[in-house]
Amino acid sequence: AKARGKGMYCFFEPHMERHLVMQLTRLTELKLGIGRGELVLHYQPRVRGDTGEITSMEALVRWNHPERGMIPPVEFIPMAEKTGLIVPLGEEVIRMVCMQLARWKEEGLPVVPISVNVAAQQIDAGTVSAILASALTGNGLDAGLIEVEITESATIAEDGQAVTELQAIQKTGVKLYVDDFGTGYSCLAQLKRLDMDGLKIDRAFTSQMLNSPADAALFEAIVSMAHALDMRVVAEGVETAEQLAALQTLSCDEVQGYYISRPVPAAQAKGLLEKRYLF
Ligand code: C2E
Ligand code: CA
Ligand code: CA
Ligand code: CA
Repeated sequence: AKARGKGMYCFFEPHMERHLVMQLTRLTELKLGIGRGELVLHYQPRVRGDTGEITSMEALVRWNHPERGMIPPVEFIPMAEKTGLIVPLGEEVIRMVCMQLARWKEEGLPVVPISVNVAAQQIDAGTVSAILASALTGNGLDAGLIEVEITESATIAEDGQAVTELQAIQKTGVKLYVDDFGTGYSCLAQLKRLDMDGLKIDRAFTSQMLNSPADAALFEAIVSMAHALDMRVVAEGVETAEQLAALQTLSCDEVQGYYISRPVPAAQAKGLLEKRYLF
């Protein structure tokens, strides 16, 4: 607090005030933008490590701002999470994914499941399972066509409500994956208790794997423990042929990363689906 004249205190420095005003402006703008249909989804395929066949695609949101162009999620998702706007934003993403799947099916494409990123705040809100169920039914889609990715922090909350929501999601038939595995504090046993279907190992591990035999051993241990617990393993952030080759010897089920494909707009994703095998 800064003294302003006699006995007057101001909690914000002028520059903080400006920052706050800017944040509020951005938030309002994002809210309006969602209403105007400015959210855009890009899709990044995930492929089998052995054959290169596409197993699913991850939906990654962007904000197509009328003046500032395509804004990446790091620039607005954290704000949406802090303010609760992530709940309606996430609902819109699920709706858009289901509509895209229905369109592709109508066009006769060999569709694969699409995985959706869901924030811990959405799980806490307890509405994801209902939104999934209605978006799937509304578009005449099988629940197997959607997967949900949640970060470890969303799974460690031991309070009953988050666990109940995760179970409700699984009851709809949607599979659950732990995102960015290795960056949080969850243990595999806990993930098994939650009956998670798979793990996405964070790209930090993928890039370190080739650094030393110890790093490779760590990666291998994660893969075999996950398999012992009947969970699928996806390596994220595969950027080189060497990394892909190493992952293949470790019998990692699926791989994803720039080396296989960058996230691409729907029109290009359609081309990838038609191709089906990416290596
Ligand atoms: P994430 O879920 O871990 O997604 C992977 C991010 O890594 C994506 O960034 C992707 O473009 C990038 N990536 C993929 N392969 C590689 C690679 O080989 N090398 C490198 N360096 N990066 C790679 P993006 O699209 O900017 O998304 C960032 C994060 O924003 C996501 O991380 C996710 O946490 C969040 N996000 C994106 N869409 C949504 C959404 O619809 N809802 C929520 N709640 N979060 C979202
Ligand atoms: Ca993800
Ligand atoms: Ca990730
Ligand atoms: Ca299971």
